[in-house]
Amino acid sequence: MIESAPAAPRLPKPGLLIGGEHRGGARGETRSTVNPATGEAILELPEATGEDVQKAVSAARRAFDTGPWPRLGARERSRLLNGVADLIERDQEELAWLETLDTGKTLVESRDDMAQIAWVFRYYAALILSQTGSVNAVPADALSLTLHEPLGVVAMVTPWNYPLLQASWKIAPALAAGCTFVIKPSELTPLTTLRLGELLGEAGTPPGVVNVVLGAGETVGKALVESPQIDMISFTGGIATGRTIGQAAAAGAKRVALELGGKNPNIVFADADFDAAADHALNAVFFHAGQICSAGSRLLVESSLHDRLVEAVLERARDIRLGFGWEEATEMGPLISAEHRDKVESYVRLAQEEGASLKLGGDRAGDPRLANGFFLEPTVLTGLPSSGRVAHEEIFGPVLTVERFADADEALAKANDTPTGLAAAVWTRDTPKGVHLAQKLRFGTVWLNDFHPYYPEASWGGYKESGVGRELGPTGLREYQEEKHLYLNLDVKPAGWFGRGGSR
Ligand code: NAD
Repeated sequence: MIESAPAAPRLPKPGLLIGGEHRGGARGETRSTVNPATGEAILELPEATGEDVQKAVSAARRAFDTGPWPRLGARERSRLLNGVADLIERDQEELAWLETLDTGKTLVESRDDMAQIAWVFRYYAALILSQTGSVNAVPADALSLTLHEPLGVVAMVTPWNYPLLQASWKIAPALAAGCTFVIKPSELTPLTTLRLGELLGEAGTPPGVVNVVLGAGETVGKALVESPQIDMISFTGGIATGRTIGQAAAAGAKRVALELGGKNPNIVFADADFDAAADHALNAVFFHAGQICSAGSRLLVESSLHDRLVEAVLERARDIRLGFGWEEATEMGPLISAEHRDKVESYVRLAQEEGASLKLGGDRAGDPRLANGFFLEPTVLTGLPSSGRVAHEEIFGPVLTVERFADADEALAKANDTPTGLAAAVWTRDTPKGVHLAQKLRFGTVWLNDFHPYYPEASWGGYKESGVGRELGPTGLREYQEEKHLYLNLDVKPAGWFGRGGSR
């Protein structure tokens, strides 16, 4: 176990978390989570069954219907969320290590994730204190109030690329709202979600409010999202899975939130700050080996700048140091699994079949130390035709494709010509030009002269096939709330039925 890692963090309790207890799966089956940098098993964990899922959902249902959590005041929920943030900060290093072992991302990236996660809990701890309902402007003989109430039991399903970050975007607002939940992390990266389950218990969540089930999407995830006892599905993952989840939500008439994939254009004009644009073009696609829903894998460059920018990107990308995420020199870790690397490699081949030329990479890591991990070299292809599949489909790996554009109209047309709409960036020193373009781009986030930043205060989500609903910000809280219209009649008198010929 973790032989190649120099320091082994404390691993989570290897059990499903149901009704406040850690337990094995009903059938006694297990699955090992694997370190993608070494191919070694990290921890053997129980695989849930449909029966386990129903127990977890029932525990969450009981905690919602009869437990104290949804009935607590905002102050108590806020205090608990701040307590969770304190515990995440206390265990930040350990959590970062777990995330790096499970996902392969660098420790620098994992530490940043943990700091952001603590802020998400603090943000919702603050927001719930200031959230108010409204008094509606109705005629004077009534008082009409709009109130927020917790939605109920939430089924959460999360991906492997940002396991704890994506979980926190759901858990923090759901708890702030007063919901209870069952979460199924990706079977590839369950460790930090399990640890967070322990921390939420330590912070004082009543039994049954927090439940964690483990296992495959097609069985455990399916049983969870199809349970009639849930009130909402909150899902982050791929578009194909998102469609299946959407169908389950429709069949059960449940509320649904979907955060799905994207193909994110990074548009660079000739008048951009060259050094910043070139550096961020690398960061956009090679951060976490491109396994980011908002990765800037599609570089659109104004023709007059194209060759110079490509040259600068190639020169630096050639030197990116692949390695184990826990080693300080490492700049890029592995892909999550052998299957995923096969998929990314197939896109590199497809891009070439479509007419692009491979300028860099495309191979697995040459370093024998990395031979058992799922590494792929930073890869750059130029001359990609804008009409092919690769220009429009998510690759989710360290693969940058470059296209040219002649002017802002062509950049806009190319960028918007995709079924997804998660994130886009525009680089120019001409701010009005950049803002005009940003206004016309059909994406949930548009960065002007930057790439990747997000804040808990600002909503996150996708246009078009990139999703339904928004996480983070005030909208991210309302996803987990019902609105109630409470009407108080201030002028009580008969409606008039008895005066119209009745017996009284
Ligand atoms: P995935 O869709 O394969 O799996 C996501 C989760 O769904 C996993 O927990 C999986 O076990 C589960 N699942 C699979 N089939 C299921 C089913 N039939 N019923 C219920 N659950 C099921 O996605 P992934 O490969 O883990 O993650 C990568 C994808 O996530 C990428 O497309 C990426 O763009 C997307 N993503 C989006 C955002 C965003 O904010 N929009 C953030 C992170 C990742």
